[in-house]
Amino acid sequence: MIGIGIDIGGTFIKFFVLNEKGTVLRADKLETEGIRTADEFIDKLALFINRIKKEYAGKPLAVAVGAPGDVDNQKGILRYNPNLKFTDMTDWPIAKNIFEKTGILPHVANDATLAAWGVYETDLHRQGSNVLVVTLGTGVGGGLIINQELYQGSNGSAGEIGHTKIADLTTGPLCGCGARGCLEAFVGTIGIKRRVLEAVKEHPQSELAKRVHQTKDFKIEVVFQAAEQKCPVALKIWEDTGYYLGVGIANWVLTLDVDTVVLTGGVSGAAPYFMPALKRVLANQQIKTPFNQLKLLVSKNPNIGGIGAALYAIYHAQRLP
Ligand SMILES: [Zn+2]
Repeated sequence: MIGIGIDIGGTFIKFFVLNEKGTVLRADKLETEGIRTADEFIDKLALFINRIKKEYAGKPLAVAVGAPGDVDNQKGILRYNPNLKFTDMTDWPIAKNIFEKTGILPHVANDATLAAWGVYETDLHRQGSNVLVVTLGTGVGGGLIINQELYQGSNGSAGEIGHTKIADLTTGPLCGCGARGCLEAFVGTIGIKRRVLEAVKEHPQSELAKRVHQTKDFKIEVVFQAAEQKCPVALKIWEDTGYYLGVGIANWVLTLDVDTVVLTGGVSGAAPYFMPALKRVLANQQIKTPFNQLKLLVSKNPNIGGIGAALYAIYHAQRLP
């Protein structure tokens, strides 16, 4: 069986073709800039799927699509998404649209959910029964493996760790979702940027301030670089990031008693700077049992979303009656 994994992002659509052994046969990516409508978007996905279909004619093909936002995984509909701004994409029936143009009904799920499956298969080799995967980037996503199966919840909305609240709902910082006090508003790149700009105002002579002023558009890399230079202001930003993440993750560990937590996504590259503070929060919990044996890992594969989608496409198709 051949698995096609498609990871829809705000900037790129990533395509991966894998075989049953997990070998990557093909990888491709396409900029989303310039795509104006949901129809045009589907055309691009269908073009790729049809090309692979032709190339591997005669072989069974399974497709999974990871979409950023709130996904109805039963019907394959993207219900809500704050990042893809097409005028005609409210309740976007991705699965139906792809089926009409390719004859293949894809499994559509939240992108972080499929990334979690990718981590479970490639990084963990299906070790561990209950796993929380946290994707740290512009958004903060989450995926869950419960009893060795991908857990998507009653509506496909499970794992939205980024929008769980860690601060006051009226005075907490504003999140991209429109609410206040979300974890993402603290540790997503936009949340980190807000804290950086506040810190830079207070410490205009710092290495971090210099680097922020040198770059035109804020890039998270400047906070990495300033931390590398041992700038105390940047180090404090990462320490606070670890603290907030620790609070968010501790809540999930207490709720689900997972055996493994894996961090992935671009911001997880700063783990050496934020991990000590994160671990302190976990170590200071009063109910110790779920934290004692907890494995805390970082996954470094930047393509885990697309690869996870392809792997899950195969896994899911093989289990269909
Ligand atoms: Zn939110």
